[in-house]
Amino acid sequence: MSLDEPREDEVLVRIVASGTCHTDMAARDQQTGPTPFPIVLGHEGSGIVEKVGAGVTELKPGDHVVLTFGFCGECYTCQQGKPTYCENFPGLNFGGSRLDGSHSHHDHHHDVFDNFFSQSSFATYAIANKRNAIKVSEKAPLELLGPLGCGIQTGAGAVINSLKVSPGKTIVISGAGAVGLAALLAAKACSAGKIVMVDINEDRLEFSKELGATHIINSRNVDVIEALKEISPKGFDFGFDTTGRNDLINNTLANLKSLGQMGIVGVATKPLEVEMNSYVLKGIKLLGIVEGDSVPTEFIPQMVEMYLNGQFPFDKLIKKYKFEDINQAIEDSESGKTIKPVILIGEYKN
Ligand SMILES: [Zn+2]
Ligand SMILES: [Zn+2]
Repeated sequence: MSLDEPREDEVLVRIVASGTCHTDMAARDQQTGPTPFPIVLGHEGSGIVEKVGAGVTELKPGDHVVLTFGFCGECYTCQQGKPTYCENFPGLNFGGSRLDGSHSHHDHHHDVFDNFFSQSSFATYAIANKRNAIKVSEKAPLELLGPLGCGIQTGAGAVINSLKVSPGKTIVISGAGAVGLAALLAAKACSAGKIVMVDINEDRLEFSKELGATHIINSRNVDVIEALKEISPKGFDFGFDTTGRNDLINNTLANLKSLGQMGIVGVATKPLEVEMNSYVLKGIKLLGIVEGDSVPTEFIPQMVEMYLNGQFPFDKLIKKYKFEDINQAIEDSESGKTIKPVILIGEYKN
């Protein structure tokens, strides 16, 4: 298989590692719309810029980059500084080609679909756009940084950018997967007061305590509404749901204070059903959040900085796998054995 030279606004990146994220599996299973096959998936790449297109001044060969979601930079929402809601998001991330329908991967025998999240990072080399290849500090371990481009950014960004959790505020997080645990680490970094983790997996709940959860609730064993009331009788400032489950979302909403905010990132397969009537009079806000409302050129370097300062130890969520063990990594992610697998793809020396 061959790969194109980078176009004017593109970069060629030698991939060092790539995280795996549920969206890879969702695309495999046709849950993100019709996925054309064969396709190169992978959308949490980290690597080193090898070549840049003629119009790229922001990056140069040798730069360490994290690859994030694709956005156009030109539509109404991009112009508002909100690239995670780009009007071209579906085409640039799930289309299986560039927006103009062309591919960067070629095979003599058949079409190969690519440009997944404008990167297709389960590969030794990737073509990305200059907008979604984000330069990061060379002091940080490059092979760990890919998940900052999607899963970790989604949880941390929701807490820091969307909900803007400040010191002493209280938050309930449902779902102790990579996104929920990244939210927990971010809440701790923001010096939140009470941080409650809700899940059904006892090991994950214990682990969230190690990461800084002040309280844990196993929703399989207890009445969540009562348990939350006991922890904070006056209610919570924030809720954050990564599960898309109606019962968990409603349990948290029922325990929010007036003017509380609830962030939702879990894309549910069932319609979301919320008894909004009683929340209207309390001024409660329900926020749909994509990719943690991240402006990647600002937020990804910010997370790297927080990691280097010891305030955001997201590496605790990661387990590394060799490239040939990618199927095992996916299996371990789906079974819940591993929180965030990272596939080591290319050599690099720090
Ligand atoms: Zn756009
Ligand atoms: Zn993802």
